Amino acid sequence: MLDLKDCHGRKDIKSMSYEEVTEEMAALGEKSFRAKQLYDWIHVKLAERFDDMSSLSKELRQKLKENYSLTCLKLAEERVSRTDGTRKYLFGLEDGNIIESVWMQYHHGNSVCISSQVGCRMGCRFCASTLDGLERNLRPSEMLDQIYRIQAMTGERISNVVVMGAGEPMDNYDNVVRFLRLISHKGGLNISQRNLTVSTCGIVPGIRRFAEEGLQATLALSLHAPNDEVRRTLMPVANSYRLKEVLEACRYYFEKTGRRLTFEYSLVQGVNDNLEEARALAELIKDQHGHVNLIPVNPVKERPYIQSSQKTISRFKNLLEKNGINVTIRREMGRDIGGACGQLRKSYMEGEGETWKRMH
Ligand code: SAH
Repeated sequence: MLDLKDCHGRKDIKSMSYEEVTEEMAALGEKSFRAKQLYDWIHVKLAERFDDMSSLSKELRQKLKENYSLTCLKLAEERVSRTDGTRKYLFGLEDGNIIESVWMQYHHGNSVCISSQVGCRMGCRFCASTLDGLERNLRPSEMLDQIYRIQAMTGERISNVVVMGAGEPMDNYDNVVRFLRLISHKGGLNISQRNLTVSTCGIVPGIRRFAEEGLQATLALSLHAPNDEVRRTLMPVANSYRLKEVLEACRYYFEKTGRRLTFEYSLVQGVNDNLEEARALAELIKDQHGHVNLIPVNPVKERPYIQSSQKTISRFKNLLEKNGINVTIRREMGRDIGGACGQLRKSYMEGEGETWKRMH
């Protein structure tokens, strides 16, 4: 039985699978159709409180309130981009922590980028989410509710989820996998597993284990360098796992799942963006099944890194393509509403965040 509790020690019902909810209801002496109704209120109707579950009896709602918590994030701030409609959200958790999520509109549907941890301990040099280290893991319910609250507020169906916000998914492995099963469950929002993407900095045992889950998610690997030497200057995790092992794990992921990978490469001026490096990158991944997603690095004020020029980016891209690699360039969405990659949360925490923490 699942042993996830909120900060008051109550069982976290939104993190439970359909089968677990059914068992819990049976233990309360309720018939199984009640479990179905409850699961539907939580994961389809996106109820915020037990009291809103009007098809359940008052007595049952009372029992639920006494025995369980229904995780519901509180909106702390919403920003809407005037240029591309991107929406950025800051949500408050029950313990006063703040997390960031992003809603993006694409021609193929609406996509949400969620956080998997409060902060991060991976220490990537260019990333704002890691500057204050790891605060704690998010529970499955706290990952789900980023999506639930955004879908409820926008009134638009979310078809794609990327676990690419703050945190390292493989460092919160069990909760992330449970989240992926819940969000793609037929009795819930039923988002296709093929529309779920998990991005990792390259924790080899995590990737290998993930390959065995029987999921159809896309794996994105944060590569950011064509060799271990440069990679170590940007990503401390490169001291633990060599690129050779990381790429072998990626190949294994493809073999087990049949899913093509995404190789993320953030271009940093003068660090990883010369044509020699483009050539080495093409060589490195030429036998992999996947494509490269180039990301112009988002400057973080605490760090010295700057974006490569447009010219450098397009030369880098052309050289990869000439060598037979498929390449996309990540559009910078919502630039006008606070820097990407955890920078909105960071600036909020330095200002209003303290007030929020005192209030909650
Ligand atoms: N821990 C996961 C998810 C992190 S965020 C991972 O490492 O993959 C998703 C992507 O954004 C990663 O590729 C990460 O390296 C990249 N990223 C983080 N900060 C960035 C920045 N300031 N500019 C460009 N890319 C950044």
